[in-house]
Amino acid sequence: MRIGVIGGGQLARMMAPAVSELDLEFYVLVEALDGAAGKIFPNSTVGEANDIETVLNWVKKNNLDVVTFEHEHVPNYIIDKINDLHVAVYPDKLALRFAQNKILMREKLSEIHLPCPDFTVVKNIGELQVFMQKHGGQAVLKTATGGYDGKGVLVVKEQDSQSLEIASKWFEKSFSSTADINDPEQDPRLLVEELVPFTRELAALVVRSSKGEIKAWDTVESIQENSVCKTVIAPAPDLGKNDKAKKMAIKIAEELGVVGVLAVEMFEVVNSLGISKILINELAMRPHNSGHWTINGSVTSQFENHLRAVAGLPLGNTDRINKEYWTVMENILGSTRKDLRDAKIDAMSVNSSAKINLYGKGIRPGRKLGHINLSGEDLQEVREDVKKIGNIFQGITL
Ligand code: ADP
Repeated sequence: MRIGVIGGGQLARMMAPAVSELDLEFYVLVEALDGAAGKIFPNSTVGEANDIETVLNWVKKNNLDVVTFEHEHVPNYIIDKINDLHVAVYPDKLALRFAQNKILMREKLSEIHLPCPDFTVVKNIGELQVFMQKHGGQAVLKTATGGYDGKGVLVVKEQDSQSLEIASKWFEKSFSSTADINDPEQDPRLLVEELVPFTRELAALVVRSSKGEIKAWDTVESIQENSVCKTVIAPAPDLGKNDKAKKMAIKIAEELGVVGVLAVEMFEVVNSLGISKILINELAMRPHNSGHWTINGSVTSQFENHLRAVAGLPLGNTDRINKEYWTVMENILGSTRKDLRDAKIDAMSVNSSAKINLYGKGIRPGRKLGHINLSGEDLQEVREDVKKIGNIFQGITL
């Protein structure tokens, strides 16, 4: 199998152990040769995902059988052109559009009767305000496309005039756009959702192969800081026997025909009687930050299973390595240290079971530079050690 991945960030980089184990021919289209994946795969090609000529030349030059992604920002007409070369693209464009476009995703999930926050498409500030009145004078405005790590998400409150001003600018930008609204990845429309008073955020991770086989990992809790994932706890504490989130994710993968890894981000709302309700927030059709724990905490990592799935190979076991263990993943977001490799040497002596995975990226404030994985029986102890290690990258050595 000759597999190509579009995108040269850490998600492509972390496929490396599986490429070796599965003995795949593997080619990455990267933004830069000295980026996270370019450094690991010397046969990478430099090019942008929206540059049709470069993408097609890369597919032909490497004689690819299958193309997959590490991000969803690939215009649909390029996917069509790859298919014209009789090369499979997974997930295919019919599935991928629901991860590219939040309006299409919300409409589809409603159609298959899965629970989402109340939402509607809005064209101007007046329509936004009508929606907000229904929901206590507040809401979340979102761009249909292009959002990540909280970009493209705006909390709007009637009392907060600044938030309304920013919303007006978003509407102006949306209307002045000349993008093709029929391409799910270019759609300039905005949607609004109720602001969910969630108790916590969960993420369910599943993988579906091109042969239709499905496996799921245990649902995790994900904790965000400034809309960016900071910590993941696997499995999510107090999930109960009936993992509703996992069942929903399996249904989505089947109904949408996803091939590869699917991550479903969800809100859990627990009412005063202790009854839990789950609402679906977001879909990602690729390995996802909420699944980095699987590298060390489960029998088969999300990266390996993504490649098995797109290559049509039997999927690997998704069980946790030990049913008694928790695994905590923490992102290293920016660093005050000058040299990350030095910091890593300091961090390694905190706990010899901790796995510190650096992505080979330059330091910038808030940038995802790496992550820490640690498993153990005592969740509090594991969390404390992970925090200590994370602090070393922020120059805190208490
Ligand atoms: P993206 O992943 O594209 O950055 P998301 O839709 O996942 O955007 O939103 C980012 C974060 O914003 C979520 O993880 C959540 O913390 C918050 N958020 C998003 N939508 C809502 C909502 N409807 N209600 C409450 N919080 C929300």
